[in-house]
Amino acid sequence: MPEKTGNSVYKRVVLKISGEGFVHPGRRGIATDAVLHIARQTYRAAEHGVKIAIVVGGGNILRGAQFTAGDSCVHEATAHYMGMVATVMNGLALQDALESLGCETRLMTAIRMDGVAEPYIRRRAKRHLEKNRIVILVAGTGSPFVTTDTAAAQRALELDADVLLKATRVDGVFSDDPEKNPNAVLYSELSYDDVRRQNLRVMDLEAITKCMEYDMPILVFNFRKDGNIERAVCGERVGTLVRRTKQR
Ligand code: UDP
Repeated sequence: MPEKTGNSVYKRVVLKISGEGFVHPGRRGIATDAVLHIARQTYRAAEHGVKIAIVVGGGNILRGAQFTAGDSCVHEATAHYMGMVATVMNGLALQDALESLGCETRLMTAIRMDGVAEPYIRRRAKRHLEKNRIVILVAGTGSPFVTTDTAAAQRALELDADVLLKATRVDGVFSDDPEKNPNAVLYSELSYDDVRRQNLRVMDLEAITKCMEYDMPILVFNFRKDGNIERAVCGERVGTLVRRTKQR
């Protein structure tokens, strides 16, 4: 395991990495160098003594709602299960990447797959975290018609995380899509209500609502920038913090 330096401002975090983190922009499938990038960034964050559970997305392989858009012989629920299975593939790759760096990990799945991963059991996941294992959580919530954002909110709450770190490919939450509008403004802090009222792209509504209801702060930041996960856990100003009270 990484040597601890103890600079983290958080004891325990849930890190949500979308499927897009596992591949190069505009491509599909899994790119091992992209997986290794996530693993290295996570390793550097873990060196600061924070306990990390990672909720893995699957959009680089399949998203249920998109898969059944239009005419499809596949029931939408089936497609969502396919999406959940996709997250398992990403999780397996991430587990090996982290272990190649010397991290101790556990892969836990919300859909039983005994030959591949441990079943997700909340108390067991907490125990792994206490033992400084990086816990990789796959198969979302185990139920169709939601996304891994909702799974991340759910796990952050049940694992008593201090913050939900939402890794994205842009620098945080903007007033408009920064990839289309160069004048879009980056917010440093927002309230849950701001996000909901302005329909800002942070996480899906269900996830935001869950975090708002239980006061779980969300830090949205760019994981492609080297060292950003580490900066986030050390309390450096990166990205956009979404929480109950907006402080100016
Ligand atoms: N999914 C689901 N239930 C869950 C989590 C995920 O049905 O609890 C399905 C859903 O179809 C989703 C897909 O798995 O589109 C992949 O997850 P997601 O879209 O959240 O991946 P990301 O966008 O983070 O890469």
